[in-house]
Formats: sequence, C-alpha cells, structure tokens
Amino acid sequence: MPEIIEQASGAIKSESRISSNGYAAFQAAGALGPFQFDRRNPGPHDVMMDILYCGVCHSDLHFIRNDWGMSIYPLVPGHEIVGRVTKVGEHVTKFKEGDLAGIGCLVDSCRTCDHCKDGLEQYCERGSVFTYSGLEKDGVSVTYGGYSNNIVCDESFVLKVSDKLSLPNVAPLLCAGITTYSPLRHWKVGKGQKVGIVGLGGLGHMAVKFAVSFGADVTVLSTSPGKKEDALHLGAHNFAVTTEEDTVKSLAGTFDFILDTVSAKHDYNMYMSMLKTDGVMVLVGLPVANVEVPPFALIFNRRSVAGSLIGGIAETQEMLDYCAENNITSDIELIDMKDINHAFERMERNDVKYRFVIDIATL
Ligand code: NAP
Ligand code: ZN
Ligand code: ZN
Repeated sequence: MPEIIEQASGAIKSESRISSNGYAAFQAAGALGPFQFDRRNPGPHDVMMDILYCGVCHSDLHFIRNDWGMSIYPLVPGHEIVGRVTKVGEHVTKFKEGDLAGIGCLVDSCRTCDHCKDGLEQYCERGSVFTYSGLEKDGVSVTYGGYSNNIVCDESFVLKVSDKLSLPNVAPLLCAGITTYSPLRHWKVGKGQKVGIVGLGGLGHMAVKFAVSFGADVTVLSTSPGKKEDALHLGAHNFAVTTEEDTVKSLAGTFDFILDTVSAKHDYNMYMSMLKTDGVMVLVGLPVANVEVPPFALIFNRRSVAGSLIGGIAETQEMLDYCAENNITSDIELIDMKDINHAFERMERNDVKYRFVIDIATL
C-alpha cells in the first residue's frame, strides 16, 4: 500500500474550500492509498456532513479497474455513505446540524428534464452526476466519494436516515438496497410470484430480503454451494446451485421474475430457460460482457430481458423509510480503512458476507 500522501493536482485551491482526507486509487492497476483533496465550501442549498460509515460496492472495484472506461484518477470511491450533518446552507430546509443523513450514487442532475421531474434522476437526459469519478454540472470539478471523512452535497440529493437502525448496516442500503428495491417495486414483485435471485452478494442478499418482505416465493440461484444456510437464514425459501446441470434442468419454466446481480461474465441464457411464459429477467449486475440471448428463448415464451439502474432520490427515501419500518438492513463486515485493499482481494474471491463497510473513524 502506498504510504505517500498525494495531493489533488487539478483542484482549485482557495481559503473557502473544505479539506478532506480519503483513500484513492491512483491508476487502474494500483492499490488504494491515502489522498488529500478539497471540496467546495457549502453553498446556500448544500449540506456538509462528517462521514461515519461507507459501504464497499462491487461497482467501486469496477471503477478502480476502469472496467467501464469512465474512471477519473485519483479516484476516491464510495457511494454508500452515512454520516452526521455538520453544517447547512442558509436555504436548506430538510436538514439541521447533528442530523443523520445518507448519500447514494448520485449527487446532482439537471433537475429540469422529464426524467428528473418524474423522480428518475438516475436516467437524467443530460446525465446525472455520480458521487465519485463524475463531473459536477460546471463540467470541470471532479466528484470524490465516501472513502473519506466528509462530503458536501445539495440537500436535494441527501437522504434522511432513521436512528432506529444500526448505522453501519444502513450504509449499503444507499446502493445495494435501492438497486434491488427499485426493480422489485417497478415490476410489482409480491405475493403469489416465484422469484429467482441470481448471485448472493451485496446486491443479491438485499434482493432476497426485499423480495421475501414483499411476499414472493424466493429462490437463490448461486454458484456457491456453501451459501445455502445463509440464503435460508436471510429468508429465501429455496436455494439452487446453478453449476449442477440436473438442478438447472429441474428449474425450467419456474420463475415469474429473475433478478440477476452477478458481477462477472456468465451465461444469461441458462437463466432465461428458468422463466415462465411472460417471465421477466432484470439485469442489475454489470460485468464487462455482452448479453447473449437467442431469440428463441424470448419469442417462444413471450419472455423479456430488461435492465435497471439504482433508483431515484424519492424512491431511495421510500426504501430507507420502508427499511426503518420493517427492520431491514444489510449483513455486513465492518473493516478499517487500511484494510480496504485486502477487502477488494476478498471481493474478487467471492468471499464477502455480505457487504464490507468501512468504519471511517479508522481513516
Ligand atoms: P458482489 O457482492 O461481489 O456479489 C456478486 C455475486 O455474483 C457474488 O456473490 C456471486 O454470487 C456472483 N458471482 C460472482 N462471480 C460469478 C461468476 N463468475 N459466475 C456467476 N456468479 C458469479 O457484488 P455486488 O456489490 O452485489 O454487485 C454486483 C454487480 O452489480 C456488480 O457488477 C456491480 O457493479 C453491479 N451494480 C449495479 C448497479 C445498478 O444500478 N444496476 C448498482 C450497484 C451495483 P454466488 O456466489 O451466489 O454465485
Ligand atoms: Zn454501488
Ligand atoms: Zn435531468
């Protein structure tokens, strides 16, 4: 791990900026190390918060490696952020100093296009601003994420967090939670439906909790036989190992809805065969690979394949409130900041139960 403390080179330095400490990736192949940078001073509509916990999403790893060709280095990952408000601008109405708050994958959008007006900021027609490795609307300032001690964000993109739930376990709801809640709600998953969740990782384990809570009959479709006990403990009704040919055959035509959360290249067509007529498979996992599905698999049973990106701000608040009411949080392993590179090695080995969360006090 690099011991050098690097300084953001492109940042505009002025007295009025907030200094931040974090961990950054400096190039696609390298390890994360300490990094000092600065953020804007909170404006009239901004909330500033001290970050307390930040979840570690597989998207962080995709970004660090530049898997999607959109990474800006130095790159401070982290979009599952919870913390405490330390300062609010004069026009802020939703928050006051001392409140708990959260920030997910988005920190801004155009706010005027049809999607933004409909609460679908993630599909903003002019491009929403990602929490890290994004460009602010000025087109110049780079965004830095939650592997850091503080953050400044317009209150419209800050979420209210209940004090009823364990705070470190709430952090992953800001991405893994909303990314699975949103498609399950959009496709109206509930009672009387058979649902398959592909991949029991950070997203997958949240998908199981939500689908069970919405009343569906849930099967985990996993490549890891050792996860059976956990899957059932999470509330799944069934567990199937998808590397067993006979098991896959026995599931043909079973599911109304499949949510695919897999992070690596895999065979989508195998899961298509498990859909009923009119069944829908929704992809949220984003491996660097194309989706290959033969037309016969779709046409002969009027099946669909669709995709879904996180969720809008209002829906994220709805999900957080639902979790507070129904006592739903993520199963986590709390780690120190210095252990982040080891955590990524474990994530690559599929050894996460079921989300790493960084205790930012260890920064
Ligand atoms: P994760 O915790 O690492 O879980 C991924 C799961 O995929 C693993 O637990 C494993 O489950 C399964 N898997 C891994 N390699 C596999 C392989 N070669 N073949 C089949 N299954 C495999 O990752 P995550 O944080 O949940 O993220 C999952 C994916 O969703 C990532 O690609 C991430 O970028 C993406 N994502 C998308 C959105 C969105 O808005 N659409 C938001 C967040 C994340 P089993 O052991 O059970 O097989
Ligand atoms: Zn994420
Ligand atoms: Zn917009």
